[in-house]
Amino acid sequence: MRGGQTDPRRRVPRTDVLLADPGLAAATAVLGRDRVKAAVTAAQDRARRGEIRPDEVRDVAVAALPAPAPRAVLNATGVVLHTNLGRAALSRSAVDALVAAAGHTDVELDLATGRRARRGRDALAGLAAAVPGAAAVHVVNNGAAALVLAATALAGDREIVVSRGELVEIGDGFRLPDLLVSTGARLREVGTTNRTTVADYAAAVGPRTGFVLKVHPSNFRVTGFTSAVGVRDLVRLGVPVVADIGSGLLVPDPLLPDEPDAASTLRAGAHLVTASGDKLLGGPQAGLLLGDAELVERLRRHPLARALRVDKLTLAALAATLHRPDTPTRAALHADPGALRERVERLRERLGADGRKAEVVPAVAVVGGGGAPGVELESWALSLPERYAAPLRTGEPPVLGRVVRGRLLLDLRCVPPEADEAVRAAVLAVPGDD
Ligand SMILES: *Cc1c(COP(=O)(O)O)cnc(C)c1O
Repeated sequence: MRGGQTDPRRRVPRTDVLLADPGLAAATAVLGRDRVKAAVTAAQDRARRGEIRPDEVRDVAVAALPAPAPRAVLNATGVVLHTNLGRAALSRSAVDALVAAAGHTDVELDLATGRRARRGRDALAGLAAAVPGAAAVHVVNNGAAALVLAATALAGDREIVVSRGELVEIGDGFRLPDLLVSTGARLREVGTTNRTTVADYAAAVGPRTGFVLKVHPSNFRVTGFTSAVGVRDLVRLGVPVVADIGSGLLVPDPLLPDEPDAASTLRAGAHLVTASGDKLLGGPQAGLLLGDAELVERLRRHPLARALRVDKLTLAALAATLHRPDTPTRAALHADPGALRERVERLRERLGADGRKAEVVPAVAVVGGGGAPGVELESWALSLPERYAAPLRTGEPPVLGRVVRGRLLLDLRCVPPEADEAVRAAVLAVPGDD
């Protein structure tokens, strides 16, 4: 039958009605009207061609729209610094600082005098105050950039002396030796994978030496018959010593006894320390450089420094992180296992009578992000059937757990307590047909 009230094509919802739908209106606010209208028109056309029913037009239009990326997720993996999840979650004060810095800011202006001022001086002052042993500090885009700048400005085409036990791959196929050589510097490898001695370094150091590089092998451990030379002995070689400590720990943390920190490394005599901002420091992606005033000034003045310059948003978040180091990273690292267990038990209770076959189980959380590979953090998780993994990952908000032996573990260590309710709602939103 054609025409008349029963023709489905006449029941295709009107464009203005669809655009007023709360879901599509919210999408318009983010993606813009043209994009949403195009999706609506395409869905209406499909209904007119009889490919979908008129009552499906709204959902088809919504499904065709890209989800705004990146999306916020809940990290229930038990990995505190998960590289695929953006490493450190910023603190509330860092987020506020980001928002404040998003418009025009005084990032390079002294409001009192009206004159140009040192860019990011608040972040630099915060870093200097956190590590008083550093005569000077500088900030670049990430840890790799800090190394590139040090290699370029301090070694040039001379040699960087480094132990074979410290030629590490950071992750995703990214190898430190390749990075260093790409600057034009030459690597002078000394020692072996498991053992390097002061004599090995001493034999290699000479007029062609740019500096000795000490790299913290942060994502693996060599155990057994091993020996490595500490910074204290390296500085006796009489050439500059650059220490890449990796994680950005500024002062020692008793929880992470094997993780080097900037203050201790400088006290041991390192001339320059490089580190990341978004690992254990819990701040934004950044590369921290701390040390000797003359060396840091050479880095700052090098033409490459401009190409590695950090954004005003990074500087704002970094300053806030340094002023208030009580970051989500620190909270997750130091969370009390007893308190975590109580949270998981409450979550289990509030899943209701059927409980989704959920169990409260002990779990092992890790630092991750290429840090503290030997450290296991006692934790607690909600254990669910494995089939929950995909719907939770693709839900709103996405909840990421870890599959272990056929069960999905939701470890609450890296979930802020105020998000427990969102985890509960996400679990209950998965059809419970088992
Ligand atoms: C993480 C890491 C880097 C790289 O730092 P990014 O901030 O990721 O660029 C370099 N060296 C070590 C030892 C690291 O752990």
